[in-house]
Amino acid sequence: MAKGKLTPVMQQHAAAKQAYPDAVLFFRLGDFYEMFGDDAVLCARVLDLTLTSRNKDNPDESPMAGVPHHAAHAYIGRLLHAGYQVAICEQMADPKLVKGIVPREVVRVVTPGLVTADEHLKARENNWLAGVDISGDARQVAIALLDISTAELRVAAVIDVAALLVTLAQAAPREVLLGSEDPALYQAALESVVRKTVLREDPALLVEDEALALRGLENDAKLLSAAERRAACRVLRFARACNPREELPVRAIGRFEPSATLVIDPSAQRHLELVESNSGDRKATLLSVIDETLTPAGARLLRSRLLAPLTDVPSIRRRQDGVELFRVHAGVREQLRSALRGVNDMERVVSRVLLREASPKDLAALRDSLQASAQAVRLLSSLDDPAVEESLALSPDEDIVQDVEAELAAALVERPPALAKEGAIFQDSYDPQLSEYETTRKNGAELVVALETRLKDKTGISTLKVRYTRVFGWYLEVTKSALKKVPKDWRRKQTIANGERYTLDELDELAEKISLAEDLYRSRELELLRTLNETVRGAAQRVRALTAKVAAWDVAAALAAVAHRFDYARPEVHDGTALRIRDGRHPVVERLAAAGRFVPNDVSIDSETERMWIITGPNMAGKSTFLRQVALITILAQMGSFVPASSASIGVVDRVLSRVGASDDLARGESTFMVEMRETAQILRYATARSLVILDEIGRGTSTFDGLAIAWAVAEHLDTALRSRALFATHYHELTQMAAESEHVRNMSVSAKERDGEIAFLHRLIDGAASRSYGVAVAKLAGLPESVLARAAALLLAFEEQPTGGETVRVPLKPRKNLNQLDLFAAPSVPESRDQEVLATLRAVNVERLAPLDALQLMAQLKKRLS
Ligand code: ADP
Repeated sequence: MAKGKLTPVMQQHAAAKQAYPDAVLFFRLGDFYEMFGDDAVLCARVLDLTLTSRNKDNPDESPMAGVPHHAAHAYIGRLLHAGYQVAICEQMADPKLVKGIVPREVVRVVTPGLVTADEHLKARENNWLAGVDISGDARQVAIALLDISTAELRVAAVIDVAALLVTLAQAAPREVLLGSEDPALYQAALESVVRKTVLREDPALLVEDEALALRGLENDAKLLSAAERRAACRVLRFARACNPREELPVRAIGRFEPSATLVIDPSAQRHLELVESNSGDRKATLLSVIDETLTPAGARLLRSRLLAPLTDVPSIRRRQDGVELFRVHAGVREQLRSALRGVNDMERVVSRVLLREASPKDLAALRDSLQASAQAVRLLSSLDDPAVEESLALSPDEDIVQDVEAELAAALVERPPALAKEGAIFQDSYDPQLSEYETTRKNGAELVVALETRLKDKTGISTLKVRYTRVFGWYLEVTKSALKKVPKDWRRKQTIANGERYTLDELDELAEKISLAEDLYRSRELELLRTLNETVRGAAQRVRALTAKVAAWDVAAALAAVAHRFDYARPEVHDGTALRIRDGRHPVVERLAAAGRFVPNDVSIDSETERMWIITGPNMAGKSTFLRQVALITILAQMGSFVPASSASIGVVDRVLSRVGASDDLARGESTFMVEMRETAQILRYATARSLVILDEIGRGTSTFDGLAIAWAVAEHLDTALRSRALFATHYHELTQMAAESEHVRNMSVSAKERDGEIAFLHRLIDGAASRSYGVAVAKLAGLPESVLARAAALLLAFEEQPTGGETVRVPLKPRKNLNQLDLFAAPSVPESRDQEVLATLRAVNVERLAPLDALQLMAQLKKRLS
């Protein structure tokens, strides 16, 4: 078909495509969604569909691909996963009832950040669409987060782009809308913190846009700054454009204060493996070891609390009180938890109800959830503890939305279908009219059976069958051999291979009656369903309020269960400057890697006095584990949880910052160093006297002087200028000299026992710097040949005897230079030429890129060459 002469249907398609040029258009044609042109090519590639064309004789015609409508969900899911948006264009009337062309309309655009269907969502995580607003000079930065599936909208102003990145890393949105005025600069930075996120450029906002986007939320919007309002408008405008036919379920704008939370830098969030582990093992995260929540909303709440703990002492204590309550009343806790197992995702069901997407199954899930929630409320009300009202926010006349629950319970069958058109939604006794239609329908069916028997008797056609198909309706089927017995008044409808199909007046009348009853039944069912949905819509806010409370109880009870089972203690959180933990444990390592044999350790640092610990010890001794456990315990404490320790006293921390030396990323070479330096810069820029800094230099043994120099300068700056509480695990032994120079610095080491060159790790932290000589023992443990070990031990001695006295150590670059000048292989018996050869090899070696074991191996080779 030539361009410009589109059929009416293709004109509809062109109009829809023009309205939603950025989306893949799913265009409904009968039982299929069809994609045309570029969309078809894209779908063929992403979804493995076969390309066809509407008119096979015309190769110029635009390509086409299609999916059956009932399977569309899965295909849409795959497109979303790949980051595309999908516009769904539906037939707006029953083709059977329309003369001419069926009207079609885009009813919804689904994008990765605007998903509402459970099958495309993670139950235990929010699905955020973020909107960012950065005014020209970056002095005003704001972010809005919208989760349309739970109808939450939160807005915050942040101080700068770096703070924005922190907030984004915490929320891990699926999709971010960036103002087109935002420089590409931010885009690169964003890409580094939010992986797996779709970044979308969003056109500039006009004043009219704002008014339109914020409608219904004007009162809340009044409280926002200009930048916050623009960020909110950005997500709202986008969400409204994608849901052109429905009001958004959002009823309120919540503000959040990034400054009132413990900031966990994106790098710290990664290093500490809070919600994602570096190994990819889902179990090896802090979240997974404390997440014993039983409801989806509870799981989401726990996760967001973990990523944004509090800094306000009274609020932290209130959360702790809730946990305490459930630890004391263990019986009620377990009863509550068994009730909570019946609570489904009410939050998301309500949002779908508001978007008119809820299924009968959703309503049944809401019914069950309300019943279980009511049971939870009854349980907690029975608790005889004065703390209940305050710490669980349970009011004496808690609204359990009984009216809605009763209505749903009276109406729905136990397990209604996922699709309304499947019918069988309501209980028999629910609606007299529905019952009447049902009776008529049933009677009709019985009358058909009776008619069949009667006709068989009358005609003597024993094989006679009354049948029904959707296309032909009701008919009588007679096989060839019996055709002569067919009475004159039967009218022939259709000839088939082995017989004929007939009808007669009586059957037509009956069919008419049945079909009428069926139609009436169907429309009555849909009408009742609409009313039921309206009932829920009217109570949406009440259901949400209840859901929020149930989620908080779920979290408190889950944390209490963890505290009980794994022996966590309630930490004392205060506004002081000290951080003291007795018998602290790493919550993940104690459960997985070192289950049953974890060695607890204490920590005691104070920004006013002894604020930095420099921790040395052999590899594998447990330095990293110790550092991380202190940070994790602090995070747990400030999110309101109990902690794995026998006691803890935590002066509130404003920020956890970390830098972890690259351990094995040799391939990335320089960029690894860049990453480390960027993290260091970040630390020095943002750490305060309230911060907790974790520096973990995993020894790669490359002993770059830069590394040592930088580490030293950073530690000094942290101590003297920033005064942060800091734990510094290092393989630069020279750093232990700092303790002699600053009263705020203390040397600690992780002990190992060495006997006859054998090493055993005790994982216990002790006073003072570690002895240097463990390295060789560890090498032995790793199975290095004896000769190499012997030579290494001798070399070590030689190094230590070098003049590295007080003065040179204090300027840490010097002693290493001396070492370099050592003529390591100048044994007199070696002939000149071999000597030269070895020296040449040595010169060629890139020490910066040599791992410790490789170095030892090399040494062995060289030695062999010399002997
Ligand atoms: P380092 O940082 O000193 O090289 P790690 O902290 O990585 O050492 O610890 C090495 C391993 O030792 C860990 O994987 C863990 O299994 C075990 N470990 C560490 N600390 C302890 C401890 N306190 N108790 C028991 N095992 C521990």
